[in-house]
Amino acid sequence: MNLYSGKMNKLVEELSSLPGIGSKSAGRLADYLIRQPSQRVKALCDSILDARENVHFCRICYTLTDSDICPICSNESRDRSTIMVVEDTRDLAAYEKTGKYNGVYHVLQGAISPMMGVGPADIRLKELMTRLQSDDIKEVIIATNSSLEGETTAMYISKLIKPTGIKVTRIASGVPVGGDLENIDEITLLRALEGRISL
Ligand code: ZN
Repeated sequence: MNLYSGKMNKLVEELSSLPGIGSKSAGRLADYLIRQPSQRVKALCDSILDARENVHFCRICYTLTDSDICPICSNESRDRSTIMVVEDTRDLAAYEKTGKYNGVYHVLQGAISPMMGVGPADIRLKELMTRLQSDDIKEVIIATNSSLEGETTAMYISKLIKPTGIKVTRIASGVPVGGDLENIDEITLLRALEGRISL
């Protein structure tokens, strides 16, 4: 549908293809952007391109980072014997914001979802198991979301790790069912971490 001029239409189309942006929001954003000074729009475009070209996965934990190994993995004072498994970098950021977790992370970059055709091989599970073999790991805390996909993933991982003898725990409920970790306040996150249960 050509609701706007050709170029405006193209912009709205591009914006509405982004996650969480419907056609209404896309229209609003496009309208906002074309009213901004060119300089500002250029800075935005540059930062998107710069991030796209220079951000990649940490070689150890698979979070998004600018360097080969992320600041958390390269921080000597972090406890490397505790690994918290999260679905994505935003969940890692949510726990980092609490400032109370001193272990390291493993970012799956997704969750198992048979409905969406995402299987165990599509997330960074193999990489997690490799880490568990080579390091002196005492505990794996599974902090996937409490959605169906998150729970499925948690169950799958715990079954996989159990035979290794490494302690596996799951963050406590208190994180609302279906809730994305990144939307939950820090106190609830901390409570969920402190109240974790053995699997
Ligand atoms: Zn890392």
